[in-house]
Amino acid sequence: MSVLVASDTLSLSLNQLQIDQLVVSQQQFFNSGVTRSYAFRKAQLNVLKKAIQRREKDIIHALHQDLRKNEFEAYGTEIGFIYTDIRHTLNHLHQWMQTKRVATPIMFWPGSSRIVHDPLGTVLIISPWNYPFQLLIAPLIAAIAGGNTAILKPSELAPATEAVLSALIEETFEPEYIAIIKGPGQLLGPQLIERHHLDHIFYTGSTQVGRIIMQHAARQLTPVTLELGGKSPCIVDETADIVWAAKKIAWGKFINAGQTCVAPDYVLVHENVKDKLVEAIKHQLQKMYGNDAQKSPDYPRIINQRRLNTLAGYLDEQVVVICGGKTDAADLYMEPTLVEVNEAEHPLWHDEIFGPILLIRSYKTADELFEVINVNPYPLAFYLFTKNRHFERELTEKIRFGGGCINNTLVHLGNPDLPFGGTGYSGMGQYHGYEGFRTFTRPKSIMKTSTWIDAPLWYPPVKSWYVNVLKKLMK
Ligand code: NAD
Repeated sequence: MSVLVASDTLSLSLNQLQIDQLVVSQQQFFNSGVTRSYAFRKAQLNVLKKAIQRREKDIIHALHQDLRKNEFEAYGTEIGFIYTDIRHTLNHLHQWMQTKRVATPIMFWPGSSRIVHDPLGTVLIISPWNYPFQLLIAPLIAAIAGGNTAILKPSELAPATEAVLSALIEETFEPEYIAIIKGPGQLLGPQLIERHHLDHIFYTGSTQVGRIIMQHAARQLTPVTLELGGKSPCIVDETADIVWAAKKIAWGKFINAGQTCVAPDYVLVHENVKDKLVEAIKHQLQKMYGNDAQKSPDYPRIINQRRLNTLAGYLDEQVVVICGGKTDAADLYMEPTLVEVNEAEHPLWHDEIFGPILLIRSYKTADELFEVINVNPYPLAFYLFTKNRHFERELTEKIRFGGGCINNTLVHLGNPDLPFGGTGYSGMGQYHGYEGFRTFTRPKSIMKTSTWIDAPLWYPPVKSWYVNVLKKLMK
């Protein structure tokens, strides 16, 4: 049995016992050493890929049920993304696993030094609902590549995908290797994270819950990777190609109805090109979704009523709606919306919007830009549209952000050679490609000394000439 249901409807002790047994069985399996070999990791990655291929239709269907993603979007941003990740990992894993030889200081000669990429052990992966398939499986790929066992916790807020994930994992892996726990995340802290020393927690979700996870993890000194959210700025200067910028912003913002952690949250546009940009974005929205986005098969829905209420609640009397703003609660629909808000204290300037509302504000000087961005420091992503290289260098150097694009949005995620992760409030640690392997392994340092010669000056009694030799060796 690889599926344990942690919910209020089950007795705590039963849950607790099952969870405790699961952790022990994974630790024993890890300690058996089976997960360490290259052959095992490679085989499991292939097994995972085949299982996903078998379930591809179910996954696409589930993503449509949970978020009304069309097949193209579901494949491109979730399933295809994972196939590419597995292929990249398989192509490089052998090389990543190689022991690295490093130099040995002369005073330790004759000897050799090496760094081994050691698997961590039993890891926990917790994922959110917005890309509910990809954000659970991508870290799992890295965990398998690292030679670990894994406990997975998908989001309960995307129930159709959660069900497919659970079936897929259950039919593919033995629970002592990879298991899935379903249910409300808040039970995980007391029932799993605080009770057991896991070897790593890889968490993707809100900054708010990230803080809680870190508190739970502190109890067992369990290391964490936190992939969090934040308000990602998008800057358009006077020199930018405005039609290009509008296309990329509209695409990056409204894909998945704005429910993307790296979506542009607000646009700061130079005052001389603001009207042009607004018109170009409106035009692009019309081209992408027609006159009524609700009728477009390509426009997703909000995950649930609570989130829709939050988003609709932002549009109060202080907000100037440039276009959009319509909602339909029965259909969990919110129209692609462009707004302006002058009040600096308005929640739209402080909350991560995480929905189809794009906030636009004009600026005059670069100083003004820094002022606005520093209200919400450490964004997960940063986007700049410009032809001015000096401006590009200035901004990318001075602003601290997780990752970003010049003259595009979101696409930095698609390059497995670019580490992905946040900084400060948007998270800690990285993954994708080699960085994922690094996150799920640790460098173990080993120095080996030959036994055929031994310098006398290691040992007392100290002779008068020892210190001169030492000074020559250690300078
Ligand atoms: P969330 O933090 O509410 O939930 C994420 C996961 O954590 C879920 O599986 C949930 O069950 C679990 N959880 C909730 N409370 C928990 C607790 N106390 N202990 C342990 N687990 C708990 O996030 P969400 O609403 O699902 O996702 C939206 C957020 O995720 C946004 O802020 C978004 O920016 C962020 N996000 C970040 C990335 C990234 O890669 N950095 C990607 C996607 C989403």
